[in-house]
Parts: sequence; C-alpha cells; structure tokens
Amino acid sequence: MEEAAFREADVVVLGGGPAGSTCASALAACGFSVILAERRLSGGDKLCGGCLSAKTLRLLAEELDLSAAALAAEGLLEAVSERFAFAYGLGDSFEERIDPPLHFVHRGRYDAFLRERSRRLGVVVTEATALHVDPSSGTVRLAGGGFLRGRFLVGADGTQGPSRKPLAAVLPEDNRRPSAFALQAVIPRPAWPEGPDHPFLFWNIPPGGYGWLFPGRTRLLAGLGGEGKPSSWSRYPALLRDLLRRVGAPPPTPGTFRGAFVPLAGERRKGSLQIPSGKERLLLVGDAAGFVHPVTGEGVFYAHLSGLCAARSIAAALTERANPLERYETSLAGMHAEFARTTRAKCWLHLPLGPLGKSLFRAAFRLGGASFVRAVHWGAPFIPEE
Ligand SMILES: Cc1cc2nc3c(=O)[nH]c(=O)nc-3n(C[C@H](O)[C@H](O)[C@H](O)COP(=O)(O)OP(=O)(O)OC[C@H]3O[C@@H](n4cnc5c(N)ncnc54)[C@H](O)[C@@H]3O)c2cc1C
Repeated sequence: MEEAAFREADVVVLGGGPAGSTCASALAACGFSVILAERRLSGGDKLCGGCLSAKTLRLLAEELDLSAAALAAEGLLEAVSERFAFAYGLGDSFEERIDPPLHFVHRGRYDAFLRERSRRLGVVVTEATALHVDPSSGTVRLAGGGFLRGRFLVGADGTQGPSRKPLAAVLPEDNRRPSAFALQAVIPRPAWPEGPDHPFLFWNIPPGGYGWLFPGRTRLLAGLGGEGKPSSWSRYPALLRDLLRRVGAPPPTPGTFRGAFVPLAGERRKGSLQIPSGKERLLLVGDAAGFVHPVTGEGVFYAHLSGLCAARSIAAALTERANPLERYETSLAGMHAEFARTTRAKCWLHLPLGPLGKSLFRAAFRLGGASFVRAVHWGAPFIPEE
C-alpha cells in the first residue's frame, strides 16, 4: 500500500484568511519554512462587511508595510467614508463625521492578495482541507489523504475549522459553538446606483446586536448580527428584509442572504470562559481563537494582530526555545483587557428600551457615542513592540 504523503515545515498554518496570511508572512520573513493550507484558494467573495477601522489601517501600514494607497492601487478598496449614519432600531438616523475615515475592502480580493503576498515571501501556499489537528505531535490530517507536520501549528481556520476543536473540548457541550450569528445580503451597485456612499448602523436590530449598510463601488452590503439563542436567529431574514425596505434598497433576489457564526470574545454562557488560545504545539489566531470585538463584531484587526503576535512568539520559540504560548498570551494582554472592558459595558448598550428610552439613547449617543465609536475605531495602542 502506498504511504500517505507527509509534508513538513517549521510551521504549518491552517487557513488563509487575514490571521493565517499575516502569521505565515511574518514567519517566512524571519527565514522559517512555512506551509499555509487553505481549503479554497480561488473563487468569489468572503462573507464579511469588509469594514476596516483606523487601527487596522495603522497596523497594515506599520507592520505589513501596506498603505491605504497600496490597497487602492491593488483594486481592493470598495469605499472610503468620512461619515456614518446612526439609527436606534429602524427609527430616524443622524449623521456623524468620522476621522480618520472608515475603509471598506472586498474581502475575497483582500484575502487573495494577502495570500499572494505570503507566497512571494516564501510561504508554500497549498490548497488543502485540514480534517484533524493533533496539538501534541504537530500533525494535521488532510482531506483526501496526506499529512502536514510542523514544529508548531497555527490554527487560523475560522469558527468552523478543526483547529478549534481540541481546545473547545474543555468547555461544556453547549458552549462549544459561538453564541452570535450574522446574516448578510449583497446588492450589486448596478441594481442600486443611487444607494448611499457612506455606512449606516442600526442599533439593536436585531435585539442584542446591530444592523449595517456598507457602501461600495461594485456592491453594497446589508447585514445584521447579534447574540442570542439559535431560535432567535430564524427571525434574521425577516429583519434583514425590513432593514432593506427601510433604506429603500431593491428587494433582495433569492439566495443573496448568507449567514455565519461570529465568535464574539468574552462569551460567558453559563459562566464558562472562552476557549484557551493554544495547547502544546498549537496556537489559535483570529476567529479560531474567538478574537472578535464583543460589541462591534470587528474581527479583521484582531485577526491581523493575533497572527502577528503568534508569529513573533513562535519565532522566539524556534530560536530561543521560549514557551510560545506564554509569550503569545502576554502579547495579547492589551486586547484581552479591551475585550473585558467592552464585555462589561455590553449589557447596558443592549437594554430593551421603550420610546422614551430610545430617544434618550439617541441623545446620549449624540453626546458620547461618537467618542465610543472613535475609541473602537482608533483603538488603544496595544500593538506590541517586537
Ligand atoms: C457577516 C459578517 C460580517 C463581518 N463584517 C466584518 C467587518 O466589516 N469588519 C471586520 O473587521 N470584521 C467583520 N467580520 C468578522 C471577520 O470577517 C472575521 O473576524 C475575520 O474574517 C477573521 O479572520 P480569520 O483569518 O481569523 O478567519 P477567516 O477569515 O474566517 O479565515 C479562515 C480561513 O480558513 C479556511 N478554512 C476553514 N476551514 C479550513 C480547513 N478545514 N482547512 C483549511 N482551511 C480552512 C477558510 O476557507 C478561510 O479562508 C464579519 C463577520 C461576518 C460573519
């Protein structure tokens, strides 16, 4: 019988989203051999609003040498906006300025560009689906036969990949799945040429979350996401249709709604904690680790940040025999502190309100909300030193 193929490298990265590509590129730039396995290398867009905060642009410029101008030159930018509209529920909206501006990328093209950048830095990018991950031996079993083995593994395969499983197993059964869900519709720009050129946020649509309408030159994205019981998510298609009607969008064509779990950080159902971010030879990054902002659902920044931190921790482990997990956790302390702070504030932000409460919320947002948005947008200076 022919022996299943075994490929080895210093580091095997599973998943070629922003977390995986950032980690792989940073390790390859330090001279380590890296295999990046992505189950789908070509084709289409990715389910995401593509909204990049100012702190993401700063990280891209400072750590990845990628400026907004470079994103534009590569055709990755869908829109840049210096204002946003805010509404409580589907009520009246008001506009706020945002400086620096919000950037919107086409996620399919953005991810493909980042993977190509990894390849140019020497990463072996391969189309392969991981089936099973063994943190103690550093071995990954692939669909269709074959194995990958690394001195270290990086799980960057999102919420549904196999990397999360060995670590989620420490949680009680009903806490292993993310507790939030998001649904999004794509509206091609030609179908709605007069659609807005700036983003809208609809607070508490659905209850415990928010809805959005994001601009773009090729398409607009309307979506909503929130926490709650899976039974409440069955109402999301109807809520999204209401939202589309409210903004005057053309009726969605069948099959345009796509949904996914969102691993909001700080999930604490029945008092249990989030999954650990590593075990033995395996470090988790991005969505696989649950690094998504507990209030905004922003994940791209934390994917890049954790990918970078994991790469630095593994590089130190490969050269100095340091414990990568300890170093990784320390480098993410600022992010965890921010997640803990916002998780505490979250229950106040989503209280169910009557008409008077909604008016007060709107007034309070006009007074202080913009500074909350700016704080999230710009972020604390927690990009760790090298
Ligand atoms: C509807 C929606 C809208 C969102 N909008 C925004 C937004 O506007 N701004 C923002 O910052 N965040 C947003 N997020 C969150 C953001 O998309 C994620 O946090 C981000 O993509 C995480 O990046 P990642 O690299 O960790 O994971 P992913 O981008 O999910 O990448 C994981 C990769 O792993 C691959 N993979 C999966 N399983 C396997 C396997 N078995 N073997 C090999 N490869 C595998 C996948 O194909 C994928 O390419 C949104 C999320 C949703 C659901």
